[in-house]
Amino acid sequence: MSTATSTPSPVRHDEAWFASRAQPGVRGLRAYDPGHDLVALRARFGEAGLLELGSNENPYGASPEARAAILDQMHALHRYPDPLGADLKRALAAKHGVDAAQILLGNGSHELLMQLAQVFAGPDQDVVYSRYGFAVFALATQCAGARAHVVEALPRDHATMPLGHDLDAILAAITPATRLVYLANPNNPTGTWFGRDAFATFMSKVPAEVIVVMDEAYAELADDGDTDVASGLPLLARHANLVVTRTFSKAYGLAGLRVGYLLAARGLVAVMERVRESFNVNGPALAACEAALRDESHLVWGRTRNREQREQLAEALQARGLRVLPSRTNFVLVDFSRQDDAARTVQVEAALIARGVVLRPMAGYGLPEYLRITVGSQSENRALLSALDDVLRS
Ligand SMILES: *Cc1c(COP(=O)(O)O)cnc(C)c1O
Repeated sequence: MSTATSTPSPVRHDEAWFASRAQPGVRGLRAYDPGHDLVALRARFGEAGLLELGSNENPYGASPEARAAILDQMHALHRYPDPLGADLKRALAAKHGVDAAQILLGNGSHELLMQLAQVFAGPDQDVVYSRYGFAVFALATQCAGARAHVVEALPRDHATMPLGHDLDAILAAITPATRLVYLANPNNPTGTWFGRDAFATFMSKVPAEVIVVMDEAYAELADDGDTDVASGLPLLARHANLVVTRTFSKAYGLAGLRVGYLLAARGLVAVMERVRESFNVNGPALAACEAALRDESHLVWGRTRNREQREQLAEALQARGLRVLPSRTNFVLVDFSRQDDAARTVQVEAALIARGVVLRPMAGYGLPEYLRITVGSQSENRALLSALDDVLRS
């Protein structure tokens, strides 16, 4: 027989091994939890049989003009998109009254929130955010290898804004090690918000060296004459350390396209441009977002429906003895626990899933007694309530 040398044994590394080789910030990280496996649930219930109220999507869909704009791009799929996204930036600049050089486009605002930490925070530096703040803040901080300083939220029994951001406590948490502060207004998953005066005071006290990121994913749903909900936009000219992020995923109903943007000082945008992937927003998405911006009436229509449905849904849930937190968004946070039965939320959630109703469990946020419910269309909300009645009876 031959004297061939034996084949070397195959290289086998498991996740723990790769984690040991990963950068320190990544080592302790858990991947973003997107909730239930919707692909499997759609296969089980059929798309029409599943009631998807777990991801804060727009139940009315995108503007028809956005859909038409995508079809109009089909002849150009072999071309790279405009690497600068110049037309969309111009349209956004005109809408918000800023210079196009103050805008950075992202593959969803999630990407931009991650990149802000990557660029501006690192080992031995602090990032400050509120408990129950948007989950990406923690992910971005850890990924950058920075230290998280999580500030206690307002108490559960707070008279007006339970679980909301405590701006005074956030201010007090800022130290010379702080590089970045993340705020969400309104916040997900709590639905809570803070007002203009409170935010203006906050910004006037934040040291100029600290960059404040104001995540405004739901701003278009709240800005219908709602002076109560602060936006960072009017303060951008006064505070070069302020960054506002927005998205096309919620009020514009374009979550599937993955487009978000930030508005900030030109210098900040220029530095962020250095790490941006050259073609991070695709051609059909650029065209669709531009078209969506032109169709203001679709946006306003959806906002009006959302407010009306949110109020009806909150009332109907309260009528069933459930505690509903205040919200200026397209979702409500609802307490399903009972004093004598802490496990009820888990049981209700499981029973709803078995009936093809998807809500978002909140255990990952440290709020196991709550479920987050996206405000659907009128017929969706009715279907939810009837499934819920069924579950609460049994
Ligand atoms: C949904 C959401 C986003 C948007 O993420 P995209 O990546 O733009 O889809 C950002 N921040 C908050 C608080 C959100 O709820």
